[in-house]
Amino acid sequence: MFSTLKAMPADPILGLLSQYRDDPRHEKIDLGVGVYKDVLGNTPILDCVKTAEQRRTATETTKVYIGPAGSSDFNRLIAELAFGEQHPTLNAGRIRSVSTPGGTGALRVAADFIKRCRPGATVWVSDPTWANHSGLFEAAGLKVERYPYYDYATKALKFDEMLAKLNTLGENDVVLLHACCHNPSGQDLSKEQWDQVVQVAVKRGFTPLIDMAYQGFGDGVEEDAYGVRKMAAAVEDMLLCSSCSKNFGLYRERIGACSIIANSSAAADVALSVLLYVVRCLYSMPPAHGAALVETILGDNQLKQQWLDELKVMRDRINGNRAILVERLKAIGVERDFSFIARQKGMFSFLGVSPEQVEQLKQEFGIYMVDSSRISIAGISDSNVDYLAKSIAKVLQ
Ligand code: PLP
Repeated sequence: MFSTLKAMPADPILGLLSQYRDDPRHEKIDLGVGVYKDVLGNTPILDCVKTAEQRRTATETTKVYIGPAGSSDFNRLIAELAFGEQHPTLNAGRIRSVSTPGGTGALRVAADFIKRCRPGATVWVSDPTWANHSGLFEAAGLKVERYPYYDYATKALKFDEMLAKLNTLGENDVVLLHACCHNPSGQDLSKEQWDQVVQVAVKRGFTPLIDMAYQGFGDGVEEDAYGVRKMAAAVEDMLLCSSCSKNFGLYRERIGACSIIANSSAAADVALSVLLYVVRCLYSMPPAHGAALVETILGDNQLKQQWLDELKVMRDRINGNRAILVERLKAIGVERDFSFIARQKGMFSFLGVSPEQVEQLKQEFGIYMVDSSRISIAGISDSNVDYLAKSIAKVLQ
């Protein structure tokens, strides 16, 4: 049975990471992998998480099964974080959330759920989008198409084209939108653009599915949820996939949430029963540890404030890195305009150089990024930004 298998292509980011590890040059820089790093290049455990873990160890009494929905406290708190405590859909009892193994688990649950609601649905993703999106929806047997999004030439949104495409969609379509910190482009919708997308969603009747993997990494926890809240207030049905990997630094704990908004509380109950069935068929129940940490933090005012402060440090560092790279490139006389990097948000931007230049940066300078020239902004630091800017200047000559 297995002898006919053809090997899958290796994950380009993991391949890059092992090349980086094997590179003996001490000035090498890893701009590939999408995890937050501090000035020392480490991805430490947040202090609020450490405290929550201590409390958890002291108070945990059982490891018995948690059930397919996961922890109800976590589910309530994560929905309040995303939608805001006073959101009309929460007050109307129209939201149901389940804990999932990371944001990826949330997306896979959403995919199977959509397949059950509307087997012939097409899921529209931005061009470009996170590399895993297509595979996740295709794995559920859904068709995946792309809508215009990022203009590589102008380093801005193709907003008119995006809107024109969305205006052709209808009830059989699901549109995946990134809540903030678009991966891979860093190019987000402005508030005004969100407002227009919301209007089109209402007019055309497609179902929005918002992927929120970086709440708090762009402009702030509240600010980054603008589109989610606006959309949720306007449409009848919607899905939200949240991840706690980046903003709580809980990558390997695998914790996220899939939330559905239905047009009434009764419809939400029915939808939840389908969601729970989907979960049981996929992995039965989510892991509990990460959810316990998040609910401990969000349920305690002091710990929550500490988390917000620690999140701000991560956000400020990323935004600072963006600004400093642009400033250094300018300072050393690079004529090409890189100011878009400072305007974009979150962990990634496209540097906008050719695959040959990406290869040259790797071979000659030990600077590692994926072929598309997507750079992970957290890999920049005060100690390597000069070298990075000079190396970019050299490959542009
Ligand atoms: N969605 C986007 C856009 C992402 O960038 C990521 C992670 O990189 C995820 C979802 C999934 O995150 P998780 O690690 O929680 O599965």
